[in-house]
Amino acid sequence: MATKTATNATPTECPRCGHDRLDQIYTSPVAGVWEIYHCQQCLYSWRTTEPARRTQRDAYPDSFKMTVDDIRNAIELPVPPLRQS
Ligand SMILES: [Zn+2]
Repeated sequence: MATKTATNATPTECPRCGHDRLDQIYTSPVAGVWEIYHCQQCLYSWRTTEPARRTQRDAYPDSFKMTVDDIRNAIELPVPPLRQS
């Protein structure tokens, strides 16, 4: 059985929703170290050097995965509390 480890291979699907249309939105200042990808469907973003549980669909926690229906019915985005200072 293969060990789930992060990889710098170009992703082919979103870890969260499985969508295959991804944008590469940033690359590391030192070329070839990491890239940041963005899912066009659920807007999830990740850096390729993050752990497999954040970057690979088969290792992403089931409780955080989203379907198209989940996305369509997500009427609110959580907003963190504002800073007091
Ligand atoms: Zn997605």
